[in-house]
Amino acid sequence: ASHGRVINFGAGPSALPTSVLEEATNGLLNFNGTGLGIAEISHRSKEFTKYLSEVESSIRKLLDVPTTHHILFTQGGGSAQFSAIVLNLLARHRLLHPNLTDDERVMDYVLTGSWSKKASEEAKRLGGGKVNIVTDARKFSKDQKSFDNIPAHDSYTFSCDPALIYYCENETVDGVQFSPDDSSPSSFPFHLPKQSSLLPLVGDHSSSFMSRPIARLAEHAVIYAGAQKNIGPAGLTVLIVRHDCIVDVDAAAKLGAAPVPLTMSYKTLADSGSLYNTPPVLPIYITGLVLQHALKQGGLERYAALNTRKAEKLYAAVREGADKGVLQAKVKEGSGSQMNIVFDVIKGDLRTFVGDAEASGMKGLAGHRSVGGVRISIYNAVTEEETDRVINYIKCFVDKNSVSQ
Ligand code: PLP
Repeated sequence: ASHGRVINFGAGPSALPTSVLEEATNGLLNFNGTGLGIAEISHRSKEFTKYLSEVESSIRKLLDVPTTHHILFTQGGGSAQFSAIVLNLLARHRLLHPNLTDDERVMDYVLTGSWSKKASEEAKRLGGGKVNIVTDARKFSKDQKSFDNIPAHDSYTFSCDPALIYYCENETVDGVQFSPDDSSPSSFPFHLPKQSSLLPLVGDHSSSFMSRPIARLAEHAVIYAGAQKNIGPAGLTVLIVRHDCIVDVDAAAKLGAAPVPLTMSYKTLADSGSLYNTPPVLPIYITGLVLQHALKQGGLERYAALNTRKAEKLYAAVREGADKGVLQAKVKEGSGSQMNIVFDVIKGDLRTFVGDAEASGMKGLAGHRSVGGVRISIYNAVTEEETDRVINYIKCFVDKNSVSQ
């Protein structure tokens, strides 16, 4: 591996293409011929503002974002959006329906894993509305307590005119993801309810952003993603926000909505072209390079095909290991993530599995601390050859442990 780099199967921050990182070192020293490094240049310089608008157009091109939607850049990660979504969309709801009580202002959450659960808990904390759990995947799990599936659509109960409808497209910790296949029972979209205003559909796409096209993108109110999985370093959060969700939060506050910190208001970001305060200049720069690289590679159609192939091979190896009694899949078939493949080692030693992999140049295979087991993350920057390497490693481990006792 060049520069002593190993294969990074970590869940995030995760692998970035080596060629992009090499290019970025030039920019650290001299950004686009300015003589200043990207970490040293003013975010208001014409060179940087031009670059920022190019990053925006790369996102528009790759995801085919219509002009009805703004692209905004901010900080604070997915976690800050757990709060910002609630504040901005409750303000929108207040302007649309000023006379409802807090109990009548409902936020609908689809619970499919640890991250959507965390988001719903933040909504409860902030108040100003009631949280309705549309469906809770744990009820449909093998042991009644794990997030191991995407529930069938007929289990979803939405409320009438909610302030938001929230889902997490890919649950990074639990390894479940909505299927892009319309005929699958775990597909997205679920049956979206009819509403008196435009649908307030919110998607956390942090760990699948730019891995494939986004289904029904134009129908979303807000899509957001922390950069640190498929597209760049931590520190940048990308938002895709429909025009009607950019609301005057101060006008809503006059009607009784909670005041919104300026840095969390989508209107502040939109009015300032994402330059209300200093943006994460270096993460934006590297993200821009990754997106140019993705365009050159053939865009999201190509990544969708590649990521499907990588995941199918890896799941096949896990199934084979399960048939031989060494591994155990954690996720129901059809609900498995293409990005984060999770399983347990039931014969042989988990620490050996992770440790020996590390010794042979493959890092980041341990499952999230809350659930244990193995988690192999194969984001865009993990190549098919690298995926084949870990598959071979799994096969050897399975063979060794299935013959031994
Ligand atoms: N949402 C998802 C799906 C995630 O995977 C993560 C982090 O891994 C988050 C939200 C939280 O993101 P952050 O750590 O950027 O706040």
